[in-house]
Amino acid sequence: MPSSPCRLCPRSCGVDRPAGNRGFCGETTELRIAAASLHRGEEPPITGRGGSGTIFFTGCTLGCVFCQNRQISQAGMGRTVDQAEFIRICLALQERGAENINLVTGSHCTPVLADFLRSARNEGLVIPLLWNSSAYESLNALESLEDLVDVWLPDLKTLDPGLAGHFFQAPDYPETAAKAILHMLDRRNTPRWNGPVLVSGVIIRHLVLPGYLESTRAVLQWFADHCRGRALLSLMTQYTPVGDPKKAPGAYVNRDEYGKLLKWLTELDIEDGFCQELVPDDSWLPDFERTNPFSSALSTPVWHWKTGLHCK
Ligand code: SF4
Repeated sequence: MPSSPCRLCPRSCGVDRPAGNRGFCGETTELRIAAASLHRGEEPPITGRGGSGTIFFTGCTLGCVFCQNRQISQAGMGRTVDQAEFIRICLALQERGAENINLVTGSHCTPVLADFLRSARNEGLVIPLLWNSSAYESLNALESLEDLVDVWLPDLKTLDPGLAGHFFQAPDYPETAAKAILHMLDRRNTPRWNGPVLVSGVIIRHLVLPGYLESTRAVLQWFADHCRGRALLSLMTQYTPVGDPKKAPGAYVNRDEYGKLLKWLTELDIEDGFCQELVPDDSWLPDFERTNPFSSALSTPVWHWKTGLHCK
């Protein structure tokens, strides 16, 4: 359980969560989930053949103005699950062929999750655990997960404090995220594979923001300096203008920008990883009101906050 006052993440709000109060992340000590599914839209070494067993948590420690998951990250959609139900969800994903358990944005519930995951391991959960986060995390919180997490999947959103303040309400994001990622790399510095599936290692994601390519250039340089040969890069071009147009970029990544990205990857000799193709529209955006928040091509629902576990 997060201690009181809560200093779990770098926001360090200091609220009394055990008393039912909510800090920036919007959550008390209860674990809330919006959806769980077999997801086929993640990077190939995570998706594998069976799909990635994604579990989407409610709440978030960042306030990205263009968040594609704002229904759950900022608007509180989801419902409380206890330990027994959490374990049932994990085991259902495993039974249905998931390659891994992909814990999406759980940084604000780390202590509860660590307990639940340990119990799930004791109850027969054997597939790899993947920590899918913004990297806006304290080293203490990461240390509490070290014996559990097999694959770290952090974002590196920007290294520019001005942009981080404007877009994420976190000017300390660059310094914090860089430290968190280096810590993850120290713990899992050699990728391990089971056939085409990554079972231990680090994949660093970066979402390209249209009109802010200099920020991406700095991230690529940092990756080349600190991570080349130790981690995979996932360069994402799916930015979709869904946020407040006064605050968030109002366009998609264009062909000229895409050409620059490819050129920089070559110049910096970054070969290990993925560069997403240009995404032409918003048809992939999730809607967590729906039992399957994604298209049926992308995802098979296993659990939903309104309906619980789905029958096969
Ligand atoms: S986990 Fe939530 S309540 Fe705790 S410090 Fe971070 S944002 Fe604040």
